[in-house]
Amino acid sequence: MRQTNVVVLDEDPKNLPRVARALRPFGFGILWAESLEDGLALIAEARPFLIILANDLKGLESPVKLLESVELTNLAARVIVLADRPALDEALDWVAQGVYTVLARPVNPDRLRLAVGRLIGAGDSSKYFPGLTGTPEEKSLVLYRNLAGHQGLGPLLESLARTARALTGATHSEIWAGDPFSQAVRQTSGPDPKPGGFEVTLEMPWRGRSLASLRLCFSSQKALEELDPLILHELQWVGSMFLSQVLNYEQAVRMASRDPLTGLFNRRIFMEQLDREFRLSQRHSSPLSLIILDLDHFKKVNDTFGHQTGDGFLKWLADTIVSVTRAGDVSARIGGEEFAILLPRTELEQALVLADRLKEALAASLIPEGLPGVRLTISQGIADIGHFLIKSPADLVYWSDQAMYLAKRSGRDTIKSLADLPGTSKVEDQRYVVQ
Ligand code: GH3
Ligand code: MG
Ligand code: MG
Repeated sequence: MRQTNVVVLDEDPKNLPRVARALRPFGFGILWAESLEDGLALIAEARPFLIILANDLKGLESPVKLLESVELTNLAARVIVLADRPALDEALDWVAQGVYTVLARPVNPDRLRLAVGRLIGAGDSSKYFPGLTGTPEEKSLVLYRNLAGHQGLGPLLESLARTARALTGATHSEIWAGDPFSQAVRQTSGPDPKPGGFEVTLEMPWRGRSLASLRLCFSSQKALEELDPLILHELQWVGSMFLSQVLNYEQAVRMASRDPLTGLFNRRIFMEQLDREFRLSQRHSSPLSLIILDLDHFKKVNDTFGHQTGDGFLKWLADTIVSVTRAGDVSARIGGEEFAILLPRTELEQALVLADRLKEALAASLIPEGLPGVRLTISQGIADIGHFLIKSPADLVYWSDQAMYLAKRSGRDTIKSLADLPGTSKVEDQRYVVQ
């Protein structure tokens, strides 16, 4: 009996002739299953290297689920999914989770033949990989599986360093990524390389730039020379694909949390951070202050110079706020021309100093090119968690706001705190205190 290489799972037998025609030149043995249950039994028994799966198979939640069940019995199997009008993001998601490729149905036999040809065309180069035995398909699968599903840059790079070392037989691997990611990360695997060693560096290309550099160190020139270029190519290609996913994720998170004009946190994130810092401050009995500030007579600026110029000033104010605050402070645009600066581990007195510094910085900093030379001022209100009136995050916002309005009433370009508001002194409230 001919060896079975391929199992096809499809409820509709009409689809079989096309698949069979596409695969005929390869001379594979093909088995057909019309239900998920039969298919899984066939796969366990026949151990095919390729599974062709109709996406609409009854009882199948997602192609990825099949992959998970198959993995238990047959790690080397690759899955090609046939789907009616597949959505690109869904298809990419499946591929990211280990599906080999997704083809539209009715399948074009040439395309299917091309995909399978690519899959088996990698040749047998397993002798070059002392670190990991197995066929190139198995290695490629290991790479996909190890890289899939990481949302953070650190864990992805760690997997990449470890897997690259196993796949190439390198004694040491090292991967570094910085810009355009939100932070620079380096991950290594294996003992430090000896100086003057044999090494190769791979860049992970994405849209004309490199997302990361992977350095692989070997024990001898021979090991380096025997390295299969295919596995290097796969590392680059698969690595950059997963890195770009993490980058997209980071950018999506950033877009959902930042105000696009100023780059500061938006109101939603400010509220979340406020809740979090409030809880932390209460638990650790540490100070927490809030400054709320509003541009003075900003309507006049818009009316005189136009909205676009107004926007330029908002950006300038945000940049100035960033320049006077620390990394742990939370600066946000919470309204049109209203901003908040949340200051963890900061007493009211220190917050007043910061507010004053911001006021001075605005007065001293150069108006950016393209903006008219008018001096803009701000009114600032401050409250802190140590005050007896403040029992919740909402109280902190309310009383900072009240202090800011007092600053407006007091002539603007000024700073007021909760303590300046009438009726907020504890002594005044405690009528039983004998003077
Ligand atoms: P006050 O000193 O009392 O705060 O006076 P004001 O004119 O700053 O305050 P008011 O609340 O009357 O007006 C706020 C102005 O802020 C009105 C609006 O045109 C402007 N503004 C709000 N959001 C934006 C924005 O995104 N871009 C621009 N350019 N202007 C904005
Ligand atoms: Mg204003
Ligand atoms: Mg306002």
